[in-house]
Amino acid sequence: MNSAMISKIDKARRYAEEPQRVHFSRFEVTFKGENDDHIVTLDGNEFTCNCHFFVAQGMGTCSHVMAMQRLLASMLSPEQQSAGAPFTFATA
Ligand SMILES: [Zn+2]
Repeated sequence: MNSAMISKIDKARRYAEEPQRVHFSRFEVTFKGENDDHIVTLDGNEFTCNCHFFVAQGMGTCSHVMAMQRLLASMLSPEQQSAGAPFTFATA
């Protein structure tokens, strides 16, 4: 392996320890709930989930969205962290 690649691998290792460098613009994940799989998406600052609670309550959040906000807190903007909820997991 050449030295240029070795230094890229070193840099990647350092980057991977600094998740705050990464900000999601959009994603779609399959979330294994207790009973069913759910599709959670982020587009800009808006989360959606196809679970019954999210769709029926129209509150813009659900346990799956809140779990994603908690999982990815350091990689989400303040708006994304608090989307659909009157609180944030940023400091949790
Ligand atoms: Zn949900």
